[in-house]
Amino acid sequence: MKTNIANIDELRHRQEGTGQLPLCGRCVQSQLERQHVKTAVWREAKLMVVENIPALVCPACGEEFIGPETAAGLQQMCQNGESIVGLVSRLIVPVFDFAVLNPERL
Ligand SMILES: [Zn+2]
Repeated sequence: MKTNIANIDELRHRQEGTGQLPLCGRCVQSQLERQHVKTAVWREAKLMVVENIPALVCPACGEEFIGPETAAGLQQMCQNGESIVGLVSRLIVPVFDFAVLNPERL
């Protein structure tokens, strides 16, 4: 699950006129494929998971791209950290403190 999805706008010009899905804008190695993805979104101290997001995914590097309408919908769904639509389940997740390993090492 990714916590950041790139916007497809930057790739749109590569698609014009070809009828094909664009090449990955990150690795430029492979043609993107249509898939449904999920992402985790932080809003202040609230964490949300959104599933079933239509996206273009690079089979080579795994980068995920979404269109502007999908990005707007995702933004709207997550704006307050608690969506009023589309809630299907809740997760209980473990939270760990990395500082117990070595707080000063980068
Ligand atoms: Zn790629």
